[in-house]
Amino acid sequence: MAQRVDSSQPQAHQSPTGFPSLDPRTGEVVAYHQADDDAAVHAAVARAREAAQWWRELGFAQRRRRLLSWRAALTRQLDELAELICAETGKPRDDARLECVLVIAHLDWAARHAERVLRPRRVRSGLLMMHEASSVAYEPYGVIGVIGPWNYPAHTPMGSISYALAAGNAVVFKPSELTPGVGQALAASFAAVVPEQPVLQVVTGYGETGAALCRAGVDKLAFTGSTITARKVMATCAETLTPVVIECGGTDALLVDADADLAAAADAAVWGAMVNAGQTCVGVERVYVTKEVATELTERIVALTRRLRVGGKPTDHIGPITRPEQIDVIRAHIADAVAQGGTALVGGAEAVCPPFVQPVVLTDVPETSTAVTEETFGPTITVHRVADLDEAVQRVNAGRYGLGAAVFSRHRGPQIASRLRCGMVAVNSVVSYAAVPSLPFGGVGDSGFGRIHGADGLREFSRPKAVTRRRFRPLVQVLTFDRPSWAVQLLLRIVRALYGR
Ligand code: NDP
Repeated sequence: MAQRVDSSQPQAHQSPTGFPSLDPRTGEVVAYHQADDDAAVHAAVARAREAAQWWRELGFAQRRRRLLSWRAALTRQLDELAELICAETGKPRDDARLECVLVIAHLDWAARHAERVLRPRRVRSGLLMMHEASSVAYEPYGVIGVIGPWNYPAHTPMGSISYALAAGNAVVFKPSELTPGVGQALAASFAAVVPEQPVLQVVTGYGETGAALCRAGVDKLAFTGSTITARKVMATCAETLTPVVIECGGTDALLVDADADLAAAADAAVWGAMVNAGQTCVGVERVYVTKEVATELTERIVALTRRLRVGGKPTDHIGPITRPEQIDVIRAHIADAVAQGGTALVGGAEAVCPPFVQPVVLTDVPETSTAVTEETFGPTITVHRVADLDEAVQRVNAGRYGLGAAVFSRHRGPQIASRLRCGMVAVNSVVSYAAVPSLPFGGVGDSGFGRIHGADGLREFSRPKAVTRRRFRPLVQVLTFDRPSWAVQLLLRIVRALYGR
């Protein structure tokens, strides 16, 4: 029988001394959680250190077996986990279920591929060092700290947690203060399958708890969240030279060529911009469309957007804005776009009715508006008419973020994709790369660095170790004080002959 995933069990505290997680649709308390202080976070990392040794020594096959059992448990618990995601974020039920599907697909891939990607492999030693056999091993770091956001409270942190665990690390996870129950549900589900050691633990609290995790002696920290917080996290981690993976937001663009399938492009633009009320790091924030098809595409976007239902029912298309402070940002971006000469074709200032924001489609917004330069993280989209895709590429690449992008073109998709300064591109679809577990996920510029997902994600949570083993005594022995004076001369002659031409 599936184990119940319940935010009130076993670690949530129904006590006014803790902090509440709230249902953004109603403002009701979902559960109270404790705010873990410095000492509690240090204790969790100390427990994780022991667990990490045990987990590492299990080896790939045993870890794989346990992680696949966890995947099966999460699959059985999918509906309960999705309900909890809905309660803490307010997102529609099927969006939460799709999030769980992503969690399961990535966990499965990480578990199945860790050994193939990370087992020791031989490499060539080269002509000058042919007397050595060389190999690279990938060793787990030990304890990985994971700090996650609230918008995809299961999928986003699991993009680090699954790969870190599969690589042989223990994990201490600090979820967003808005979604602590989802974090605890994930850890409880793991503990039921791996009861022997606390290989995956959760600490809950506000930003200070996250800062404590950065200082608690973790061997690497995987952060997903805003660029502003990323800078603080990096500064804290710099105190102890703790390495970091940084996954931040973006202002992702969708580019539409004159020969594109406009029905598909409009559908992708609207879904990519509005899904999860626009609270998606790789959500579409702006569309650049060539002048030949701009009018038709804009009309299609407007028509599709008008069909969307906003509300707190599980079956609505768009739920509330999860983080109340974000509403001010969305309001300010819409106001700035209009003040700078933009036109709202759908919605406008009146679209903001907390905790909901109705969809907004803006055109003629200058590139200097915050609606273009900054992440809005709401159900808004700006549509820009350009002379051609060269101009579109130039405008996209001028931004300081570079997370994902989408290109709609019948003939030039991959070519345009190769010119975009970002980490991921979907050609003739949107956001699809996030659902392909074998692909790396991450950005450039203010969107962060390092990669989760795929083989690169497994290596991100491993330290490469180089090993050489002497196969035979070299003819010319130079790495010794006992070398004869002619040895270096001979080596130089060989080097000049080999490389000097
Ligand atoms: P925040 O940056 O506000 O918070 C992220 C996490 O950091 C939270 O758990 C937060 O805790 C914690 N935190 C806050 N202050 C500190 C600190 N000083 N030291 C350590 N940790 C701290 O981001 P949001 O939660 O608002 O998430 C939204 C952002 O995440 C958006 O910009 C979005 O684009 C980005 N994102 C990026 C993704 C990617 O893969 N590239 C995926 C999903 C989202 P608390 O909540 O308790 O304050």
